[in-house]
Amino acid sequence: MYTISEIQDIIKPRRSYLADTKVSIHYLLYDSRKIAHEKLGIFFAFTGRQDGHLYIQDAYNKGVRNFILEKDTEQEVQMPDANILWVANSWTTLQSLAQHNRSRFQGPVIGITGSNGKTIVKEWLFQLMSPEYKIYRSPKSYNSQLGVALSLWDLSNQYNLAIIEAGISHVGEMDRLEAMIKPTFGVLTNIGIAHQQGFASKLEKTEEKLRLFKDAETLIYPAKYLEAVQIPYKPRKLSWGEEEDNQLEVYSIRKPEDGQTYVTLYYGGKTFGISVPFTDSAAMENAITCVAVMLRFGYDTALIAERIRNLLPVEMRLELKNGKNNTSVIDDSYSNDLVSLQIALDFLNQQHQHTNSILILSDIPGVTLTDEKNLNKLKRLVADRNLTQLILIGPVLRQYAEQLGVPFQCYASTADFIANLKDIEFRDATILLKGARDFHFEDISKLLVAKSHDTVLEINLNALEHNLNVYRGLVPKEVKMMAMVKAFSYGSGSFEIANLLQFNQVDYLTVAYADEGVELRNAGITLPIVVMSPDENAFESVVQHNLEPEIYSFRILHAFISFVRIKDLKNFPIHIKVDTGMHRLGFMPDEAEALIDILRQQDVVRVQSAFSHLASAANPQDNAFTAEQILKLDQFAKKLQQELGYSFLRHIAATSGIELWPSAYFDMVRLGIGMYGVEASRTDLSLQTVGVLKTNVTQIKHIPASETVGYNRHGVLHRDSKIATIKIGYADGYDRRFGNGVGKMLVNGHLVPTVGDICMDMCMLDVTDIAVSEEDEVVVFPDITAAANSIGTIPYELLVNISQRVKRVYFYE
Ligand SMILES: *Cc1c(COP(=O)(O)O)cnc(C)c1O
Repeated sequence: MYTISEIQDIIKPRRSYLADTKVSIHYLLYDSRKIAHEKLGIFFAFTGRQDGHLYIQDAYNKGVRNFILEKDTEQEVQMPDANILWVANSWTTLQSLAQHNRSRFQGPVIGITGSNGKTIVKEWLFQLMSPEYKIYRSPKSYNSQLGVALSLWDLSNQYNLAIIEAGISHVGEMDRLEAMIKPTFGVLTNIGIAHQQGFASKLEKTEEKLRLFKDAETLIYPAKYLEAVQIPYKPRKLSWGEEEDNQLEVYSIRKPEDGQTYVTLYYGGKTFGISVPFTDSAAMENAITCVAVMLRFGYDTALIAERIRNLLPVEMRLELKNGKNNTSVIDDSYSNDLVSLQIALDFLNQQHQHTNSILILSDIPGVTLTDEKNLNKLKRLVADRNLTQLILIGPVLRQYAEQLGVPFQCYASTADFIANLKDIEFRDATILLKGARDFHFEDISKLLVAKSHDTVLEINLNALEHNLNVYRGLVPKEVKMMAMVKAFSYGSGSFEIANLLQFNQVDYLTVAYADEGVELRNAGITLPIVVMSPDENAFESVVQHNLEPEIYSFRILHAFISFVRIKDLKNFPIHIKVDTGMHRLGFMPDEAEALIDILRQQDVVRVQSAFSHLASAANPQDNAFTAEQILKLDQFAKKLQQELGYSFLRHIAATSGIELWPSAYFDMVRLGIGMYGVEASRTDLSLQTVGVLKTNVTQIKHIPASETVGYNRHGVLHRDSKIATIKIGYADGYDRRFGNGVGKMLVNGHLVPTVGDICMDMCMLDVTDIAVSEEDEVVVFPDITAAANSIGTIPYELLVNISQRVKRVYFYE
């Protein structure tokens, strides 16, 4: 794409060391864990919370030979065959490269921003306008400072239209995105109330978003979001809405029927109708926004209506599900291109729970493999992954199967593959399903995935990653991070969560019982794992699986020392629990001397850490008590270190401690509930929801006012009512105390109360006031903290009580 000397000319580094000026750079690398195509990539070491300079050697060892660095090190001495450019700021350098590449693009660029719907509008415009335009679009939802830069880097004049998303969460970010994207046409999807945290007000957020359109030629937007807002720039405006002064006027939106919604519109003196194959209001907004864009591009209204009628849903997320025969299935059945294939393969690589990795891949529409460049790209993608098996579906890819370097089978079509599936046994494997939409891989997915009943707990792995980084941002770099994965990761999963945490390089995992640790080891987790409550029966598995026990009493210490001695091991790591005031488990501070005596007389165990637990970190009235606990741990650890003559880690802060007590950070913090999306004490952290418990409506009934609903006739109706029965009950973890209106669930955007007692496997909702159909989706805990409060418990309990029979489905974007 660019040679290294061209890059040098563009970014004007303050110092350069070039071993090979001719090498051409195709890929931007920034994460040494995800390096593929090392020879053709350039590695950016960013500073910030994670210092990229720490990973230079790792990247170099993996074969990377081109680097952009901020820090003035003598790297050329260690890497004499590398090209190194030193810059003032790696971020601005990356962005200036993206900006440069954007400036070479000759076609128009549509820039999209808004609180929701950016990716859907982008994907729909792609569907709607592809027949006429060669469209480049940002992959997945790459819309951050990094995502936009990476998106623009791949833009080229092979295309004649680009659609780029921009997302912001703080004031000041949009100017940098605008400078890179320079949209010709601006699209605002909407302004939501979510993610308010980075902004002082909704107006401030709106104004920040509008900065994307500073130099745009046209701005397309739903009028209702910009009422009373001065648009400070001078683009042509194409607004839509119900009022007459909009260029695109919405006359009426009919009540949905058979999954279709009919909308009547008025534009340029002409009335026309569109039939949108969706029913929810968000889809209506997005579809009308797309209509407005098409009108701006001069499309005829009849053609617009025809295309809209055939709109397909957008599925952007990878789903990780349990498969049959001890398999995991990563389902990415709705799109196939080289960028999203790489993302899906990266995610496959993060999975360690099975010995085999299998890729089932359809032909890739729009990628011509007769073009050497594309073929090489595909070869490199596939070759890098330790795949054990490759299954190719479709007439095209099979011609190249031999060249991909992985054992393969080919099938002419999805139907052909399914017909042969009974003879193919997938076992102990992670299977990535990556198929273009036309191949209908969802049919394969149905056959490979274990049956689930309708209630699922959706786990958003990106949100978990985000929350982890929020807490990482609170503690200094040198403080280690222990992630609590006890109790099935607070109800959200086992190896699925641990794989992600391992990939994100936390320092420790902690489980409650040895068998939880064994399960993680069997799933290929190599991080150190602490077991909080090891009993004597579990010592064998502790030692065998290299788990590290918490030692909380003399009884357990003696027992463990004897056990390890028989095994003839030395320096087995243990973690000493100190009771500084919680009065649960642990040595009392005055037992330090006796403990030291025992530890000094042996060399079979070695203290890896000494730690304690804060009892009341969240309660300001107990601040003096908390400070005392911190002091007691400090003193205990000092004494122990002095007498033992070696150092070890000290830790006391869990989520609340991390949020409120910097003096409690010591050498490591233990993150639990916050990672799963629930702030313990603060409210300003913008955590993202990790688990969403969903079910759907099984039956709807119209019941007259005189009747009652459910057991004991507790559901007394005071009016003629519409009642929805849904498939979740106390056996699934939906507490009986949520009965009779205490619990509120979200159905089609409305909160509705329970009615009557909660049954074992079902309960009933009063949906009298809302539009609802059987099979509609129900979100069980729209706000888990409020739900917990309403029955006098805490979110922890609701999360861990979600029964194991509720299937977990994992998403990763
Ligand atoms: C559960 C637990 C934590 C994590 O607590 P959160 O409040 O969920 O962050 C930390 N340390 C110990 C000892 C625990 O048992």
